[in-house]
Amino acid sequence: MKTNLLALTPAEIAALMEIMGEPAYRAAQILDWLWHKGAESFAQMTNLPLSLRQKLEQQVDIGFLEVLAKQKSADGTEKLLLDLADGQTVETVILPYDIGDSACISTQVGCRMGCAFCASGQPGFIRNLTAAEIMAQVLQVRNLLQRKGRKLKNLVLMGTGEPLDNWTATVAFLEAVQDPQRLGMSLRHITLSTSGLVPKILALAEKGWPLNLAVSLHAPNNKIRNRLMPINKKYPIEELLPACDLYVEKTGRRITYEYILLAEVNDGSQHARECAQLLSGRICHVNLIPFNAVPGMQWQPSPPEKVIAFRNVLKSHGINATIRRKMGADIAAACGQLRNICKNKTRGE
Ligand code: SF4
Repeated sequence: MKTNLLALTPAEIAALMEIMGEPAYRAAQILDWLWHKGAESFAQMTNLPLSLRQKLEQQVDIGFLEVLAKQKSADGTEKLLLDLADGQTVETVILPYDIGDSACISTQVGCRMGCAFCASGQPGFIRNLTAAEIMAQVLQVRNLLQRKGRKLKNLVLMGTGEPLDNWTATVAFLEAVQDPQRLGMSLRHITLSTSGLVPKILALAEKGWPLNLAVSLHAPNNKIRNRLMPINKKYPIEELLPACDLYVEKTGRRITYEYILLAEVNDGSQHARECAQLLSGRICHVNLIPFNAVPGMQWQPSPPEKVIAFRNVLKSHGINATIRRKMGADIAAACGQLRNICKNKTRGE
């Protein structure tokens, strides 16, 4: 196995140069090419001597992932299916916003959380991504946007997988994101979405990072949440919300509660009132998500008038709530869908 360059810290790259008998400043040159100039091959690192580029080629993997499939929506949303070294694949989505482009990044192949409305959960859990594989998605998107004269402004860890179930890699990734010698991006521009792993929310709170946390609530009570999200049986709402309050206290960041609206399941006015009672007095924002229908799933999207009515009930109770713009509906942008389609195609289904 070759060493993965994206997995190395600046100190480790410096150590690698020392082992290779190179002067110390070569490490800074490599870091600059990789993290700031967007090089995707050693051949592009033209201020390194040819002999070093050849040595690196033989011994080190630069860590970029090949794009296996691409879909582009009429609204500009782009979905990439990326090839991992072991033949697994992972999805990354580029979301164009007026305020700057966002990338939606995956943290696992499949997911073990089993949320009933989620396409990613369907094939079950396959494996964790490494920190380098998570970062490769970011660099891929950043370089792609740069070539179009656009800029990656925000990252959301909301693709396939539960980031806090892949704790070690997620934390190593967030450290690389903040490191000025590597991505050098403020965590204020990053949102981590979790299904509600309470002990990990508490551990993240202890870091005190200014990272935005989005918590998938999706139900106003344990009965409905148990049906939609099996994790609720382990960490019910009465444990989840105090952990979120502590996160706000330790980080100074407001929590976003995600609420996917499913027709006749969690979208009634009584549900909205219950939700308002739960969140009353908490420093938060509610993001109402119109459901993208997934073939083969029993759930249907709420009618638009019910989505608006739900928001209005929350607002009338003083809860800050917005409706997420539906993006990529024509390209199966719900996480996991492109991967499932490509897998079915290769199986001839
Ligand atoms: S919604 Fe998120 S946590 Fe739930 S199954 Fe899908 S990827 Fe996993």
